[in-house]
Amino acid sequence: MTMALLLVLAVSQVAHAQGESAPIDLAAASSTVEAELVAQYGEGQRARLHRGLHQVASLWRTGDGDAEVFAAFAREHFIADSAQRDAAFNRLETVLEQVDGHMHEIVMSFREQTDLDRGDILPLDRVLSAYDPSAHTSDDFFRTKLSFIVLLNFPLTTLDERLAAGGSWSRRQWAEARLAQRFGQRVPAAADDAVSSATAAADQYISEYNIWMHHLLDDRGRRLFPSGMRLISHWNLRDEIKADYQGTAGLAKQRMIVKVMERIVSQTIPAIVIDNPTVDWNPWSNDVRRSTVKDSDRPGAADTNVSVAREADRRYALLLDVFRAERMVDQYSPSEPTLIARRFDLDRELPEARVRAMLEQILSSPRVTDVAAVISARLGRRLEPFDIWYNGFRASPRYSAAALDSIVARKYPTAAAFQADIPRLLQGLGFSAERAQYVASRVVVDPARGAGHAVGAPRRGDRAHLRTRIEPGGMNYKGYNIAVHELGHTVEQTFSLYDVDHQQLAGVPNNAFTEALAFVFQGHDLDLLGLTAPPSDSGAALTMLDKFWSTYEIAGVSLVDMALWHWMYDHPDASPAALREATLAIARDIWNRYYAPVLGQRDEILLGVYSHIIEYELYLPDYAIGQMIATQVEAMMAKSGRIGPDFERVARLGRIGPDAWMTQATGAPVGPEALLAATERALARLRAPHASHTQ
Ligand SMILES: [Zn+2]
Repeated sequence: MTMALLLVLAVSQVAHAQGESAPIDLAAASSTVEAELVAQYGEGQRARLHRGLHQVASLWRTGDGDAEVFAAFAREHFIADSAQRDAAFNRLETVLEQVDGHMHEIVMSFREQTDLDRGDILPLDRVLSAYDPSAHTSDDFFRTKLSFIVLLNFPLTTLDERLAAGGSWSRRQWAEARLAQRFGQRVPAAADDAVSSATAAADQYISEYNIWMHHLLDDRGRRLFPSGMRLISHWNLRDEIKADYQGTAGLAKQRMIVKVMERIVSQTIPAIVIDNPTVDWNPWSNDVRRSTVKDSDRPGAADTNVSVAREADRRYALLLDVFRAERMVDQYSPSEPTLIARRFDLDRELPEARVRAMLEQILSSPRVTDVAAVISARLGRRLEPFDIWYNGFRASPRYSAAALDSIVARKYPTAAAFQADIPRLLQGLGFSAERAQYVASRVVVDPARGAGHAVGAPRRGDRAHLRTRIEPGGMNYKGYNIAVHELGHTVEQTFSLYDVDHQQLAGVPNNAFTEALAFVFQGHDLDLLGLTAPPSDSGAALTMLDKFWSTYEIAGVSLVDMALWHWMYDHPDASPAALREATLAIARDIWNRYYAPVLGQRDEILLGVYSHIIEYELYLPDYAIGQMIATQVEAMMAKSGRIGPDFERVARLGRIGPDAWMTQATGAPVGPEALLAATERALARLRAPHASHTQ
């Protein structure tokens, strides 16, 4: 529901014949041409020139030409004159905005039928929506040597350099850094394809990993879950644990799901029970038998013996395939030679050691014990491992779902009705009438086929698209809630494109930032319907504890994910069975360190169950970082009390580094301090004698 389709110009290249793509030794040619050009332009140019030649030589392949061609290229394209260099920079910003804009336009047009609620999808539409016209632009730009011109004249920076100096960089310096980064990698298509196929296989495996809950039996042969309930691992299983804090036999159900999750992580789950409604399974004894109950359209299998063979480490074999595909990319990423480095240094721009320290700061905070005590008191029992998913802090809704649906449906019968209301919604959030109108004219609302998403435009003159789901009777509350979130995205996308001084700085530092800004909008959805009284003190405090507890949970899962990737790099030839054992050891270790003291049960392996670990390549830390960022941004906006002007101010900072952005936005770099401080305040409010509990 929070999908932001970002146009990424794929860094891919048609595979050359082996010899064509081999690196070439240009050390001698570089020295010669450096001496020659320094003689021509002066000693003052040496440092820039040396760096530029090195940048070009590191990505030059035999197919680009021999040492003579390299030297001739450098003589022709090195720009010593600063006015000419400014002109080149401006020209590049202009044309790249056009390239991105046109590519984006093609993608949007090709995907229209699949993205919008517009009737039948033809087989043709799936081909159209999978097409990426930019797949070969990187190849083209190296072939025409445009990439080399950029690399010869603009500095590639390391994360360390950006962190050390970025705080005092001018906007132009940041824009130059972003320009060079765009051309800093040259990964052949074969390596990119290997990663896509490996992650697609993992995605396919996870997408079919369902557990038929009615077929789970306890030791007395009872079925605890209703007929027809099919839950995908781990999302639905986890959400069912959350749902089971209400209703009958909740505790027994939660314990049963934990057993299922442990079987998945340890791969002792019988292979036959996965996505199979024709067998019954006792996850404790691991007994499997042909089911006597039919609750799906699936034909019952013939009455043969049921195999209880375990799943046999397929989960870990698929993760190893993803790892091995990334090893191919490693060879072409000299400055970020591991997936770990690419995720942290390139995508997040927060060093791994720092992210680990931030996660550990949450995990080892005394607030964990405090919040655990509140949960234990509310539940009236000692905590168990699955209580890492406790969600009972949410206040009970003030309005019934049906009442909200009917209010929203009356207000927004069509996408056009929501579109027409955008200026009023934005003024409700504190934007001036003029700014509200400015944004509204740059956003177009479309009826979505799926839940909804936002697509920003990369080129000025184009509009951001807010896609929202309209049911036949009009928008429902769930759709509205998502639409307000997506409105936050499109407002950010509008300011961070139209009102940023350099095209290369359009956007935000990373995905966690755009989500944090969208959540600010989403949190005000009821106010914008005119429905809330000011939130009660204890209600807001409980919401904060909920946020803290979910950050605590995902922080440990993130550490497991990170440790696994290190283990794979340390053991590149490991077998799936060895990776399984390593996962169990890592999950236990992190559990024993940060969770067993408050939730009991040493050696629990639940932290290994996240499906993201298998298919999303080290994505999990983003959730925890996102919570920290969102709290920082919300705390800053809460101070001024008006979202509009602050929102516009921070969205206009653009895609500078995360710390530079956060420092300019809130006065402090990215970190967990705001989250921890807000949690402490929330606990104090709840302890105050006058605080009334809403639940
Ligand atoms: Zn989102």
